[in-house]
Amino acid sequence: MNAIRRLCLVLGDQLSFDLACLQGLDAERDRVLLVEVMEEASHVPHHPQKIVLIFSAMRHFAEELRQQGFQVQYVTLDDPQNTGSVPGELQRWQAQTRAEEVHVTECGDWRLEQSMKDCGLPIEWHADSRFLCSRDEFAAWAKDKKQLRMEFFYREMRRKSRLLLNDDGTPVGGAWNFDADNRKALPKGVKAPYPARFSADTITREVIALVKERFASHYGAVDNFDYPVTHAEAQELWAYFLDYALAGFGDYQDAMASNEPFLFHARISAALNIGLLDLRQVCSDVESAYWSGSVPLNAAEGFIRQLIGWREYVRGVYWLKMPEYANGNVFGNSRALPEFYWTADTKMNCMRQAIGQSLEFAYAHHIQRLMVTGNFALLAGIAPSEICEWYLAIYMDAFDWVELPNTLGMVMHADGGYLGSKPYCASGQYIKRMSNYCGDCAYKVTESTADNACPFNSLYWHFLMRHGDVLRGNQRMGMLYKNLDRMTEAKQQALWQRGQMLLAKLDAGEAL
Ligand code: SF4
Repeated sequence: MNAIRRLCLVLGDQLSFDLACLQGLDAERDRVLLVEVMEEASHVPHHPQKIVLIFSAMRHFAEELRQQGFQVQYVTLDDPQNTGSVPGELQRWQAQTRAEEVHVTECGDWRLEQSMKDCGLPIEWHADSRFLCSRDEFAAWAKDKKQLRMEFFYREMRRKSRLLLNDDGTPVGGAWNFDADNRKALPKGVKAPYPARFSADTITREVIALVKERFASHYGAVDNFDYPVTHAEAQELWAYFLDYALAGFGDYQDAMASNEPFLFHARISAALNIGLLDLRQVCSDVESAYWSGSVPLNAAEGFIRQLIGWREYVRGVYWLKMPEYANGNVFGNSRALPEFYWTADTKMNCMRQAIGQSLEFAYAHHIQRLMVTGNFALLAGIAPSEICEWYLAIYMDAFDWVELPNTLGMVMHADGGYLGSKPYCASGQYIKRMSNYCGDCAYKVTESTADNACPFNSLYWHFLMRHGDVLRGNQRMGMLYKNLDRMTEAKQQALWQRGQMLLAKLDAGEAL
């Protein structure tokens, strides 16, 4: 094999033609390398649909690169020479091609990036220009700040992107944030659009067969895979959302309903995170929809905030704080993740719905993740590493840079409040207000200490009682502790005892 000039690695979550390391490649002298490796597919038990998405999208991307004239080296999972790891493949192909240069775009996972930095090859690293805020830019913004706040970062990103700004630099509508308008429950009679679905082609069917054979022990359905695997399909999914769901997204983004897994959500996060959609284009389309009058401001602003605010913010925190961030455990939690997180075998209807659809579609929306499965893990004192692994494994859009801060920081408050100023703990009353789950539940949301009382209720107060030393000093928790202190001693005792009993059940491996 003749020596080549440049070997350019493209990872499974970097499938963008705009990737910095793909620019300026020479069709004769350079080569693009894509590798399916066991280590990345199994270091946590990823949902089978997530593995299908990544492998199928990689194979489609490789075909498109070839059609554009690139030389592509594609290593399949069952290639007998496959070393099983990204650094192993990089070393193997650098040796075989005698490439003069090895180019890689910065990773979405500290562990993987470190393993490449440690592999002995002189790698030329490229910034990931798919994000609005670079790692260095975020570090400069965070420097000297005792506590970070997403809201202020978001305003910086609005100014930088000029999205939804008036000519004088003030925010359209007179406020930066319309979140208060975005917390409505789903009224009876309001129907979400039918979800867009994509049928599997030959490549995807081959990958499904491979995944069924090689990852049979991973939890989650695979035969119902219906997700976009090419840029064109992802664009179709996006256009469908703009036409049919964005207008309702603002009002109902926090709503939950039995047997309604998607409601008005775009379901584009996986496509965006692996490079099938472009952040800037998506935001610009949403802004155009607002200016054209087809969607209200609270929907447009809420959507854009999720992307250029929260999504960029958590990535910035991740790269600023890793690897120490992953060890955060301010409450000292050590409880094992209950088995029902992998089976949905629980009498709690909200948990059954959220976990059940996660197993079926590798998807749940942010409030199901934060206020149902996440809230339960927080109240029950699950070890952060265990719940983080679950989120990373179960969701199609979960990559370490986005999953870890969201779970460890926002859901579990395990970073001591670095990411968010208070824990998102809530009793069953929140779930009742935002969903119709409680009506079909074996537990009673109006009860706290009875035998059939909603587990979220006593666990909520138990959480506040057992972590008063950490949380009582938090101003934003003051009202909650006032309510606790107003209770009679007997009521507090009853709540504590029911909480103890539920936690003992979890420790005994029993489902609730
Ligand atoms: Fe969930 Fe409690 Fe409502 Fe049941 S009663 S659905 S456990 S919040």
